[in-house]
Amino acid sequence: MKVTAKLEAIRQQMNNACLKVNRNPNEIKLIAVTKYVSRERAEEAIDAGICDLGENRDEGLLEKWEVLKDKPVWHFIGSLQTRKVKNIIDKVDYIHSLDRMALAEEINKRSLKKMKCLIQVNVSGEESKHGLSPDEVINFTLQLLPFENITIVGLMTMAPLTDDADVLRGCFRRLKELQKQIQACNLKFAPCTELSMGMSNDFSIAIEEGATMVRIGTALVGEDE
Ligand SMILES: *Cc1c(COP(=O)(O)O)cnc(C)c1O
Repeated sequence: MKVTAKLEAIRQQMNNACLKVNRNPNEIKLIAVTKYVSRERAEEAIDAGICDLGENRDEGLLEKWEVLKDKPVWHFIGSLQTRKVKNIIDKVDYIHSLDRMALAEEINKRSLKKMKCLIQVNVSGEESKHGLSPDEVINFTLQLLPFENITIVGLMTMAPLTDDADVLRGCFRRLKELQKQIQACNLKFAPCTELSMGMSNDFSIAIEEGATMVRIGTALVGEDE
């Protein structure tokens, strides 16, 4: 199916979720996650009117960046090895996967501007998932004060792979609570206005719970259905 058709369906679902909770769809960024698809498909997404692309590996990002350059806003959404920071740092606009001090140090050192970062939180506590545990987040954030090239624009999480709406909702609510706690700290370097949550299977619930960025791969750019 063409990206334009899928995009229309996704926008419709996003609008429905917004209607339910009285939100303005314009306040939600739709990030097309192109990690599984070709660069042609990524170009198709841009031509369809998508402004934001997400990649989870440096190779995939570089491959697509070479053809698309500054056309999209680039989001790095995957776990990031410290030694790979230098490969991507001047190409991305957002890093969604800040989860440890060594990574913050490297980003701060390599970046030539204030990098917009989101702290990844492992709300569900699954061992397979990256991210800080919820009770580490505030302290971690406070420790970022000396890093002049890092702005904490928000929090990111991946919900567990389940169809249980209550579990998903609980996970997104917890992230929202953490956001409020950080905002209450009134830190200049951590406005924390963004909540990056919601993927193909759970973005409607994430929007109902306050997502400002949804990261959608399969349902938006997937090539194989
Ligand atoms: C792959 C991925 C997504 C998109 O997943 P889909 O289920 O294909 O929509 C979103 N966020 C992260 C961090 C991912 O790695």
